[in-house]
Amino acid sequence: MSFNDELVRRFEQMAQMLELTGANPFRVNAHARAARTIDDLTSDLGEIAGDAKALIAIPGIGKGIAEKIGEFAETGKIGEHLDLLAEVPAGLLRVLEVPGLGPKKVALLWKDLGVEDIDGLKRVIADGSILGLPRMGAKTVENLIASIAFMESSGQRLHLGIAAPIAEAIVERMESVKGVKRAAYAGSLRRGRETIGDIDVLITTGDPDGAREAFTTMPGMTEVLAKGESKSSVRLSLEGIDHARWGGDGAAAQVQVDLRIVPEASWGAALMYFSGSKEHNVRLRERAQKQGLTLNEYGLYPEDGEDEPPQKRGVKAKAGKTEEDIYAALGLAWVPPEIREDRGELDVEQTPRLIEAGDIRAELHAHTTASDGSMSLEELVAEAKARKFHTIAVTDHSKSSAQAGGLDETRLRAQRAQIEALRETTTGIEILCGCEVDILGDGSLDYDDGFLAELDVVVASPHVALSQEPKKATARLLKAIENPYVHVLGHPTGRLINRRKGLEPAMDEIIAAAVEHDVALEINAHWMRLDLRDTHVRAAVEAGAKIAIDCDDHAPGDFDNLVYGVLTGRRGWLTPELCVNTWTKAKLHKWLRSKHG
Ligand SMILES: [Zn+2]
Ligand SMILES: [Zn+2]
Repeated sequence: MSFNDELVRRFEQMAQMLELTGANPFRVNAHARAARTIDDLTSDLGEIAGDAKALIAIPGIGKGIAEKIGEFAETGKIGEHLDLLAEVPAGLLRVLEVPGLGPKKVALLWKDLGVEDIDGLKRVIADGSILGLPRMGAKTVENLIASIAFMESSGQRLHLGIAAPIAEAIVERMESVKGVKRAAYAGSLRRGRETIGDIDVLITTGDPDGAREAFTTMPGMTEVLAKGESKSSVRLSLEGIDHARWGGDGAAAQVQVDLRIVPEASWGAALMYFSGSKEHNVRLRERAQKQGLTLNEYGLYPEDGEDEPPQKRGVKAKAGKTEEDIYAALGLAWVPPEIREDRGELDVEQTPRLIEAGDIRAELHAHTTASDGSMSLEELVAEAKARKFHTIAVTDHSKSSAQAGGLDETRLRAQRAQIEALRETTTGIEILCGCEVDILGDGSLDYDDGFLAELDVVVASPHVALSQEPKKATARLLKAIENPYVHVLGHPTGRLINRRKGLEPAMDEIIAAAVEHDVALEINAHWMRLDLRDTHVRAAVEAGAKIAIDCDDHAPGDFDNLVYGVLTGRRGWLTPELCVNTWTKAKLHKWLRSKHG
């Protein structure tokens, strides 16, 4: 684990444990904020850990936190963290993850009933003593029982590429129900996050009973958790969805879906509220407050100091029907959901025009049956042409990837002859002869420079030694970037979401080198990879690095993963200009040829 990750884990735990011990909310927030800040950093804090001034200069890190970072650098531990670990039972943090149990309730369970872990929670449910706690009725306890069972059967967040098609199908189903006027999914899925906890669907309807009925009888439904006036919840089975192959044994077996029926006049306010992020919404509410207004999931209202919510008193909203109206009433332009993360999106005059899937005109990373793909050369080209791309690069694996059928120089030259022949009979698309060359453990490439110079496009990717220590990983990737024939650094860390951490290089150095040597950093669009990740894309964009969004196609359906790569790009504030796949044919090919002098 990198120095930064070690700190993130500790500060996250400290925030939770401080909350459970009833500490001052400011202290809780300081630690939570520090964890978020450090998680977003692209530089290694270890380098400046002894320099309190430099640490405090980072927004989100205060004096107390800076001292703890220094302490960790020096001793490998944080005293207060250890004190808290001694005070708070380890199993209690897992209890905190049970939906419906906030820190206040968990603290009561712990102090009053001696609950220290999930088993303890089950015990006080079984003996009924939990009912003695304030606001803990039979119905709440029933939901807790279901939540615990769910947690024990699932365990992991869902991948974006698993959750999105399910949510789209549910929205489509709800749209077809009589009386439903609008339907959309919200939550972290709408923001394009790489993993999703549950799926939130919002609708407006003239026939709430019909909508609830349609929702709670969906195919694949395993359990109805709630069927209330404004909110219904179900669990859907993920059986039959081929994700275990990627997710491993711990892959989720079910997903919770919440349906909320919202008033037509509150559509925008509800969509905004349930899309989050929480941090973005907090900033919006603060902004509203400064203007003498109050913002909730029903609308934006004048603040009149009354305790009862304005929508219950018939107060007329200033805005609420659309998100655009609400942002405008707050003096802001509409903010794309993918960047609603409180990472500066409310501090700019106008957010940039973010990349869209329709901007992509070329694919620079694809495999055929020559290595581990399932498409023949002809099938690959036909598929790319059907997507209206002007360029498709054939980039099979290199010789060291023996398990993936990697090509040696002789086979790749033969493939080149095949590509040249195919060009003769193909119109409407350029076929490039390239490779995905292995970056070996020491940073050297799997083909020599003389051979690389023969190729139209070179994607250099790490596939082995993916757990090497951060300093080695940095040196390794820098060496690959410095090679004069490399165009694209493919899936730079080699991570697999929920499954493999991958390399942890000093990303700021990688980005700076990519800019200097004119190498594009890839966002590998497969939802299992999404590598570069969103925050690293943001840093790359700020540094002016070129980005390639590629699907790393092995089968025809892989082209459909493009949307996930684009969502990740959008989360990193990527504009079309910096993404080489959006360029015209002339501009793209000129850049590719520039590597050949
Ligand atoms: Zn690869
Ligand atoms: Zn590949």
